[in-house]
Amino acid sequence: MIDCIFCKIVAGAIPSKKVYEDDHLFAFHDIQPAAPVHVLIIPKVHVASLADCNASHLEDLGRILLAAPNIAAESGLTDGFRTIINTGKGGGQEVFHIHAHILGGAQLRPLVDCVASA
Ligand code: 5GP
Ligand code: ZN
Repeated sequence: MIDCIFCKIVAGAIPSKKVYEDDHLFAFHDIQPAAPVHVLIIPKVHVASLADCNASHLEDLGRILLAAPNIAAESGLTDGFRTIINTGKGGGQEVFHIHAHILGGAQLRPLVDCVASA
């Protein structure tokens, strides 16, 4: 198995709090939530980041975005949510298996405060 935390979560080798699974996607609670509800949606097939995607990933990318509102609603986010995909080190990506963050459960700030301090 590829040495990837999220591939291991999909395989059940690392436990997670699963919120959704189908043939192509897996969604689970973030271990360090940045909002009252913080879920990660990942494709089961490993791809490191958005920058590594090609046409073969088109369907999984679409599936992630189409699943997001349903997974958010099932997680109690009836009043809206934020979707974030960090890409690459400069984009704040820490786990290199593409994932969409679904954040909500409180009023989220506008995205004016996202540059890391030195
Ligand atoms: P990134 O910064 O790559 O966009 O986001 C990675 C996210 O994965 C972080 O929010 C981090 O808390 C979460 N994370 C890292 N390791 C684990 C883990 O083992 N289990 C779960 N559930 N989340 C993880
Ligand atoms: Zn992976």
